Amino acid sequence: MEVNKKIALVTGGSRGLGKEMALSLANKGLDIVLTYHSKKEEAEAVVSEIEALGQKAVAIQLNVAESSSFDLFFQNVATALKTTFDTDKFDFLVNNAGIGIHESFLTTTEQQFDELTNIQFKGPYFLTQKALAVMNDGGGIVNISSGLTRFSFPGYAAYASMKGAMETLTKYQAKELGERKIRVNIVAPGAIETDFGGGAVRDNEQLNQFIASVTALGRVGLPEDIGGVVAFLCTDDAKWVNAQRIEVSGGMNL
Ligand code: NDP
Repeated sequence: MEVNKKIALVTGGSRGLGKEMALSLANKGLDIVLTYHSKKEEAEAVVSEIEALGQKAVAIQLNVAESSSFDLFFQNVATALKTTFDTDKFDFLVNNAGIGIHESFLTTTEQQFDELTNIQFKGPYFLTQKALAVMNDGGGIVNISSGLTRFSFPGYAAYASMKGAMETLTKYQAKELGERKIRVNIVAPGAIETDFGGGAVRDNEQLNQFIASVTALGRVGLPEDIGGVVAFLCTDDAKWVNAQRIEVSGGMNL
């Protein structure tokens, strides 16, 4: 009989970092609700992989850029919690879904700025606000930042600013949610080989080699370098880790 089985909701779990986070969490014995934006088939494949690990999982569509859709999204979450997990609350929220837009400060348009704000900052802000109504006390939130808040790389002024806002928000959330014993931390990956930014870190050999050359461990990051750290934060081993920015970059730009 499973006692107090924990459930994590991972946004953007269809591929890239979110997929590895979902699999790492499942490996630690958590059940998973994962979201996708457009890639339903990929998300269902992740659900199957999690089920093969012996955990329960479900995939639900979400557009984090549209806060007006969040009530409907959480109705879908409530239905899934009841039908798939026989419960009405979950324990951990991982705000991972996101996009990158590479544009210099001087040429960033308001449209690009608004898109980044909606996906990288406003979305997670209000999604978390609403999620708290269906989260158990004693769980946690993991937000996702970037190494680009510590060091600057031309072309990421708007993107990194939103991530910086998430780092500030993390501290405020940890302060206010402490009374519910909900821990809030933020993981800041270095450059990782995913589809992010058109897959540049993975597919542009020159960029890949440059990043490896400025990374103490001598290579770019892989999705599996990140998933386990997020999973750790959602276990009791991390029960006293709160309000922290944890950079996971192999020592980039030291
Ligand atoms: P990917 O492009 O590989 O995956 C993006 C994920 O986010 C997919 O699951 C995608 O869903 C989902 N998504 C995209 N847009 C939306 C949206 N509007 N609403 C809901 N979901 C959406 O990116 P990564 O895995 O690399 O990035 C994940 C997070 O990590 C992001 O927050 C990113 O900023 C951050 N990060 C990434 C780094 C990197 O180098 N890769 C470095 C530092 C931080 P679907 O598959 O359905 O399209």
